[in-house]
Amino acid sequence: MSLYEPEIICETSAAAGDPEITRRRRAAYTPGVSADLTYEDKYDLDFFQSERGGHDVRYIVLHDTEGPTQAAISWWTNPENPYQSSAHDLIDKRGVIWRCVPYDKAAHHVGYSHIPGFNEFNAEDDRWKPNANLSTIGIELEYPRWPDSPPYPGAQLQSVVEHVRSLVLQFGVTRDRIFRHADIDTNGKTDPRNFQWDWFLDQVFSEVEHMLDETARHAAWNSSGIPYNPEAAFSRYARLHDLGKPETQEFDFG
Ligand SMILES: [Zn+2]
Repeated sequence: MSLYEPEIICETSAAAGDPEITRRRRAAYTPGVSADLTYEDKYDLDFFQSERGGHDVRYIVLHDTEGPTQAAISWWTNPENPYQSSAHDLIDKRGVIWRCVPYDKAAHHVGYSHIPGFNEFNAEDDRWKPNANLSTIGIELEYPRWPDSPPYPGAQLQSVVEHVRSLVLQFGVTRDRIFRHADIDTNGKTDPRNFQWDWFLDQVFSEVEHMLDETARHAAWNSSGIPYNPEAAFSRYARLHDLGKPETQEFDFG
């Protein structure tokens, strides 16, 4: 039953008096600068989770915690949690990635969500089928409880961009398959609040497209037996003028 309940953690937040919450970093995120991602492995804790029932990972959903990290972690492992809610990863305000539920299991984060093309409402059972949890990865961003609405710290933004990019590459998730919880929930969820969505997707995918492009180009030139030279005139020109992938000679004959 738990699989079909939404995640709610704000009720429990025990948010009172987390001194960290007032010490928010406001450092700017620098696009293109690679972060050394830091992980906090919590796989040994007993987070609520289910089997994926044969479904592949096809979608990524972002949430916010509406409370401190520790409150979320304890709620997702608390036998008293009536929703048995959880997420795969939580990115705290320092940018540390807490790994909670392994990706080969379903976390319980989008039980009332409708993903067009994936599930439909079954009136008889009064639920969405298949359940959106079965094909999604859920990422929670630590964020204070409403109405507190600070900007997301730069370190946290950098981590979420790089982490989601790595998941995109690992699972082959396309841009149109990354959602905010608010985009797909049918029960009034509004998270992640205050998050610059288009900017975020641009950061993730500009680099992905560049990497895919470079990989394809290297492969093409390698198969032709001619070493690829990224500094050759045409490719340099195309890059400078944003003309996209050069289709013609981009190697120097010296
Ligand atoms: Zn959510």
